[in-house]
Amino acid sequence: MLINLISDTVTKPTKGMLEAMMSAEVGDDVFKADPTVNALEEKVAKMFGKEAALFFPSGTMANQTGIKLHTQPGNQLICDKYAHIYNYEGGGVSFNSGVSCKLIDGSRGMITANQVEKAINPPDFYHSPLTSLVCVENTTNKGGGACWDIEELQKIKMVCKKNELAYHLDGARLWNAMVEKKESSIVYGELFDTISVCLSKGLGCPVGSVLVGSKELMHKALRIRKIFGGGMRQAGFLAAAGIYALDHHLERLAEDHKKAREIGEVLSKLTYIKQVEPIETNIIIFEINEEFMTGDTFVEKLKENDVHIIDMGQGKLRIVTHLDYTDVMHEAFLDILRKL
Ligand SMILES: *Cc1c(COP(=O)(O)O)cnc(C)c1O
Repeated sequence: MLINLISDTVTKPTKGMLEAMMSAEVGDDVFKADPTVNALEEKVAKMFGKEAALFFPSGTMANQTGIKLHTQPGNQLICDKYAHIYNYEGGGVSFNSGVSCKLIDGSRGMITANQVEKAINPPDFYHSPLTSLVCVENTTNKGGGACWDIEELQKIKMVCKKNELAYHLDGARLWNAMVEKKESSIVYGELFDTISVCLSKGLGCPVGSVLVGSKELMHKALRIRKIFGGGMRQAGFLAAAGIYALDHHLERLAEDHKKAREIGEVLSKLTYIKQVEPIETNIIIFEINEEFMTGDTFVEKLKENDVHIIDMGQGKLRIVTHLDYTDVMHEAFLDILRKL
């Protein structure tokens, strides 16, 4: 039995999801004529109380489109040093938008309104890049699945308003934060100009992300998506998976969080583990005590037991729980850890 905990993107469609996909009514979405894509976009826009939404093949493309919408070449955006848009989107911020990032030394991937305010370049000082956008991430990926405090997000919003900056949320795992903290999507919709959400992570879809915003912004986003090569034809088969996931896989994220906490409890009792970072959602980041063994050895030993996890570098290892990580696998994994 392979226990794959490298990411929550490794899930395969469930039977119910596959049936929904196979029976989807489809059309050519490049002509906006795919009824299932249109239904998904309407559903997600409505969830966030936004006017419109746009379906994307990846979270990276949705974020990159968001950044392109809110910036001009030469501008600067503000984000945490751990941000996915800065670290894991292949340098797309500069490649696609000609924009630089002002990195903030936040805590677990989260920054404060104060830090944002200090990071803004004076708009009339033409020697420095013009700050035009603030990007935040919830939950934070490299920050270990940490959830933001809504009040801080609101304070940052005030800073953005005062300084005429756009505000984008990379919500690849926003679902996890919302379920864990029992927050409403409407509140997030009110805060941000644009939000990207992933369907292909905790929700278990094979493909897909959605960007939400105003009608005007999403109209512009349609052209940008075209330029990025993200226009898909009978994408309704994929959108059907998204609709199914939102109806069936949202609340169950709490189970992934519970399992993650249980793994964390076992890990923190093991002598060869140096430290487990606080676990808020489905991501567990921890360090091995190198006096006992190296991180590499630990990953290899798990692999011998058919358990796959990843090394994030800088001595940090990561485990992610998900839809395909069953109760049986969970018991087996905890046993393996205790005996290792
Ligand atoms: C996964 C992820 C994305 C998007 O990734 P894709 O693989 O392009 O779908 C964006 N932001 C965060 C924080 C992520 O974890």
